[in-house]
Amino acid sequence: MPSATHNLVLLLLFIHRLISISTVGLSLPPSPALTLLPSQTLPTAVDFGATTHSLPLAVLRPSSPSDIASLIRSARLSSPPLPISARGHGHSINGQAGASGGIVVAMSGGARRRMSPPVNSMEFGKTYVDVWGGELWIDVLNWTLANGGLAPRSWTDYLYLSVGGTLSNAGISGQAFHYGPQISNVFELDVVTGKGELVTCSQDDNSELFHAVLGGLGQFGIITRARIALEPAPQRVRWIRVLYSNFTSFTRDQEQLISLHGQQRFDYIEGFVIVDEGLINNWRSSFFSPSNPVKISSIGGGGRVLYCLELTKNYHHTSADSIDEEVEGLLRELDFIPASVFTTDLPYVDFLDRVHKSELKLRAKGLWEVPHPWLNLFVPASRIEDFDRGVFRGILGNNTSGPILIYPMNQHRWDERSSVVLPEEDIFYLVAFLRSAVPGSSDLTKSLEYLSDQNRQILKFCESAGIDAKQYLPSHRGRSEWRRHFGPDKWETFQRRKAEFDPSCILGTGQGIFHPSSCPFTSSLLPS
Ligand code: FAD
Repeated sequence: MPSATHNLVLLLLFIHRLISISTVGLSLPPSPALTLLPSQTLPTAVDFGATTHSLPLAVLRPSSPSDIASLIRSARLSSPPLPISARGHGHSINGQAGASGGIVVAMSGGARRRMSPPVNSMEFGKTYVDVWGGELWIDVLNWTLANGGLAPRSWTDYLYLSVGGTLSNAGISGQAFHYGPQISNVFELDVVTGKGELVTCSQDDNSELFHAVLGGLGQFGIITRARIALEPAPQRVRWIRVLYSNFTSFTRDQEQLISLHGQQRFDYIEGFVIVDEGLINNWRSSFFSPSNPVKISSIGGGGRVLYCLELTKNYHHTSADSIDEEVEGLLRELDFIPASVFTTDLPYVDFLDRVHKSELKLRAKGLWEVPHPWLNLFVPASRIEDFDRGVFRGILGNNTSGPILIYPMNQHRWDERSSVVLPEEDIFYLVAFLRSAVPGSSDLTKSLEYLSDQNRQILKFCESAGIDAKQYLPSHRGRSEWRRHFGPDKWETFQRRKAEFDPSCILGTGQGIFHPSSCPFTSSLLPS
């Protein structure tokens, strides 16, 4: 369809829908800040996954929490109630931040908000910063560095994600083994619930809402403020990669390393799987110089699959003299292929922001905005060898179309009262298949269909092998799949919290868990 005609159709559709909104009684209070924009003015119909489309009726750019509260109260009272989803930076994979037929609250972008300076709190015994829920982590980092040389403690690998978006999942990276996920590093939240109430919550006050919202997939409220724990930022990072051909040695070393605490430990522990020659020099591996590509065959080790352990040690200029010795001491205990140590040294910020550099390169080649059929799993440590045999050395073949991350974490760094679902073992692995499909490629193994089918095979393999893997950034179809994902106890808690904080089921409909049209808590739908 020519774009002008297409736009006209969209515009007419929008006007028609607005008329419908007024006829179904969505009356918004007059507020100069509260503007409903046609949804086509923002790319809110697609996300990073680029595999699903959901067209909202309109988009709200809130200028305050009370804008959001007004919208939610009106949407709840309209007949039928309208779906509302917060959208951070839209980096979900399966339309989770969408609100088909409803209203998207665009939390990120728009006018810049002033962050308040970090606070050294006697109450928490910690330093923290209060930030808007739509703030991007890169902006939080730049702000806290500029205001006292501070930084959050727990990260994601990529920083162009919103605070509310990662807190609605967990927010994990190679620091999680020590500090826990980002949701374990938040002291307090302001949340607009699904009833349109603005509530401040923490471990001590309104704790049920606090725990519900953390990892809560946007189901209980919209996070408008988060109080984030900070630490003095290190100045530099020693970044090390070593290779293994033996999976047992690789995971034994990873698990040993995450058990170390105190000073004699690494600060970041991740790893990835290399099943073909191309992958070692892929977009996550800007570390290896493009002018000096690493050849797997030159490293030895024999097998088709290699495993790369990735570590960092942070330091200050004042301790630069001892960093070599400290790193060598820690590496000495490990069982990697001797000739395979790759080391680099860089400023802390450059390390944290490393994926953005790869993003810019991919964007320049038109390879960033392609479909991303990603699959993220938490796999219990007791079954990770079976997973290796069945998936890395089985289902994958020798072309994976993107990095595969693998690193362990320990459950005792997570708060079991949050909404996140984990396997029932203290140590579990994140295994992340970060694939990019290449539309129009003559190589069928790069197609969206092929990679999506491989994801289904991996899930089926886990099921048939009895591996209790849980999806991270989950995507499930239908309530029975969600019930299975949560397990009976967690599902009961999740439903109880939903009934309490969003009884009309208007929030987070893009997740496909609840919807106002089939809400089990509204009286007309309750079983008699
Ligand atoms: P969106 O996609 O906009 O929203 C995600 C969900 O959160 C939706 O359900 C939405 O309704 C809800 N939501 C958004 N804002 C709010 C709010 N203020 N209040 C309540 N609910 C809200 N994750 C990791 O843990 N570690 C990583 O290292 C990591 N790396 C990534 C790298 C890339 C390149 C990408 C694309 C994603 C990565 N992710 C990682 C996943 C990422 O954390 C999630 O996709 C996250 O949801 C994205 O944040 P967002 O701001 O784009 O959220």
